[in-house]
This record gives sequence, structure tokens and C-alpha cells, in this order.
Amino acid sequence: MSASESACGYEYCPPVAVAREGGCSCGAVRYRLTSEPMFVHCCHCLNCQRQTGSAFVINLLLEADRMELFAGEPQPVDVPRDDGSTQRIYRCPTCQVAVYSEYGRPAVRFVRAGTLDEPSSVAPDVHIFTRSKLPWVTLPESTPAFDLYYDSKTLWPAESLQRLDAALGR
Ligand SMILES: [Zn+2]
Ligand SMILES: [Zn+2]
Repeated sequence: MSASESACGYEYCPPVAVAREGGCSCGAVRYRLTSEPMFVHCCHCLNCQRQTGSAFVINLLLEADRMELFAGEPQPVDVPRDDGSTQRIYRCPTCQVAVYSEYGRPAVRFVRAGTLDEPSSVAPDVHIFTRSKLPWVTLPESTPAFDLYYDSKTLWPAESLQRLDAALGR
């Protein structure tokens, strides 16, 4: 194929990143993630177990303006946490499925990976609060895991740290 026949004009076209999409169960809420997450948490804390009714939650940490809501308006619900704080969880107004949450900083969203059309397209970068991990869950040795939390400065890629600083205006 000559250069003029290729779509981008170069012999080698890098693969175009396909934006991830997802939504609630009834389809009223639909979203698109316009970039890769900054980091992916798998949280085994008791709050997350209670909120999900499951063993853990998988959250994609992403700037709010990189989550494009193109259908529906998730409604905020303030949910008490064991430490006395509240976590704001955004739910579909119709089917009430939780799509994302905030932890006091609206500029950073925690998108629930289970609401992606293809949840298998992401994997956790870290496992946290493993002190309350259910005993039958076996974690891969290749992924860092912490009893409680961790220092993002030592674990996040430099590019993600820069994105976080920019999102938080610091
Ligand atoms: Zn819904
Ligand atoms: Zn948690």
C-alpha cells in the first residue's frame, strides 16, 4: 500500500484508542471516558463491601471533565462511612445503579468499573484495605497490595500525578 492509500498518510498507523463507554442497568445513564484512568483502585474496605454488596469495588480514578455524560443525569446520594465521613455516590435516577462517586473532591471521580460496557478492559493498579479482604479472595502477586492505603507519589506514574495536580489546581 502506498502512503497515499493509508488513512493517516503514514505507513504505520498507531492504533486509535477507543474511548471506554458504560452506563447503568436501565440505559438512562450513559457515559464515555475520554482518556485512560489516572489509576485504578481495587478497594476491599468494609464500606465498599457494604455499598456494593460484594467483595470489593473497582474504581477508575479520572478527572471529572474526562467523564462525558451523554445520557441521563446521575443523582448524588450522600452515604455515611464508618469513619464518620460521607461519600457522595451518583446513581441513575431511574434504576438507582451507582455509576461513580466522589470522596470530597468533585474534580476527581471514582468511576465504578463494573458499569463499563467492557469491565475486562481495566485491571487494578493497586489493592487497598486488604486487612478486610474476604479470605477466599486471592490477589495476584504482581499487583501492589496494602493493608490500608498507600502513598500515591510513590506508586502513580509521573503523568498521572501531573494530571492529578492539574485537576486539583495545585
Ligand atoms: Zn438506570
Ligand atoms: Zn473502600
